[in-house]
Amino acid sequence: MIAKTRKVSDYKQLNTELPTVRFVDPERVYLNLTTSRCKEYTLDVKAGDHVKLGQIIGERDGCFFRQPVYATISGTVEDKVTMIDSTGIDVECITIRNDFKDTYHESITDRPDSVIEKMTQEEMVEIIKEKAVVGLGGSGFPSYVKLATEETIHTVVINAIECEPYLSSDYRLIKDQPDEIFQGLSYIMQAVNAKQGIIAVKKTKTELIEVLEREAERFKHLNVSIAKLGDYYPQGWEVETFKNATGIKVPSGDLPMKHGLLGFNVSTTESIYEAIKHNLPITKRYITVNGDGVKFPQSIRTRVGTSVRELLKLCDGFVDDADKLELVIGGPMMGTAVKSDNVVVTPTTTSVLVFRPIEYKEEPCVRCGSCVYSCPVHIQPVSIMQAVKRNDVEAIKGLEANKCIECGLCSYVCTSKIPVTDYVKDGKKKIG
Ligand code: SF4
Ligand code: SF4
Repeated sequence: MIAKTRKVSDYKQLNTELPTVRFVDPERVYLNLTTSRCKEYTLDVKAGDHVKLGQIIGERDGCFFRQPVYATISGTVEDKVTMIDSTGIDVECITIRNDFKDTYHESITDRPDSVIEKMTQEEMVEIIKEKAVVGLGGSGFPSYVKLATEETIHTVVINAIECEPYLSSDYRLIKDQPDEIFQGLSYIMQAVNAKQGIIAVKKTKTELIEVLEREAERFKHLNVSIAKLGDYYPQGWEVETFKNATGIKVPSGDLPMKHGLLGFNVSTTESIYEAIKHNLPITKRYITVNGDGVKFPQSIRTRVGTSVRELLKLCDGFVDDADKLELVIGGPMMGTAVKSDNVVVTPTTTSVLVFRPIEYKEEPCVRCGSCVYSCPVHIQPVSIMQAVKRNDVEAIKGLEANKCIECGLCSYVCTSKIPVTDYVKDGKKKIG
């Protein structure tokens, strides 16, 4: 149990240095039919049917979009089950038992470069929509909506900051697949006719900078530069990344596109490559398993639909009884604590963190102002918290709780160990 002696930074370091573990052949996958955005769905297959990798098996229905559900392995359809997704909610999933043949559906064919070179924005948008590509940094926002922008875009910014502690999935992706990232960036730039691309990365990640600069040289015609940004949280927040990578400050409430900027997470960029080049939906992703509660933390390349229980087994399991540990899906600052490991890897699952619990004694607020000084969107978390306690909806609105990006900093810095972010999140819900 080497975990006992490590510092937080050691965990990130460890997972970035170890090679990626490939776990792409689970016995079964569980494909979520519902999400926090899509509560309704249609299912086109039934138990006993055989499906192929990349076959559409149903459709999710969101408030403003419909999203095909794809089989991520070939095999036999089994029952529906309920599991937990990356947002911590119960989602309905359909089970597929793997036949370990990876038989591709007939629609999965490569597009020649000569065809891609002539593609228009509309054609690319249609593919990204059809292949259900979403923001893989955790947002899950449909990527086609961004790519379909009608604004004039001068710069595409790829966010490779991955600023939360413990996370290393983007790091491993960049190390393993830099060519695919640059290809994806070239497709995005072609779609919106952007004249330059920027890949934003932490200046401390010298190994990644080397890889990216070498690739930028290979793709010289694209005019891509590497922005080396500060190693602090929340550097990866889009507004902060744009400001430091381009010098353009996007005012609160404005869409970056209005300012000529279009941003994608680095994993999303790779998925855009897979969709356009290979006509593939998101079938695999990198995921970090980390924390002092897991015996052997690792970065894993796995199939979408894999059970997190399987991944934890691959990491030699827990250091203690599961009920004595805390499980977080996503980063430690913005992730969601879950009560069970009955979790499924969806396209937006960046990480699984397991921690030994730390006992905090919450004290009364001492009005120290630390939460106010550290808030990146310059609102007043402590005042919002008081308004939430009073259930004063007008005050919550007036204090602009809706601007909160849920970065978790106000809780992190709170002198009295108050979960201030939870209060602000409650406030956001109260004002809709
Ligand atoms: S979580 Fe707290 S610090 Fe972060 S944006 Fe919201 S109010 Fe500000
Ligand atoms: S950081 Fe905590 S103790 Fe200090 S003002 Fe904010 S809520 Fe109060």
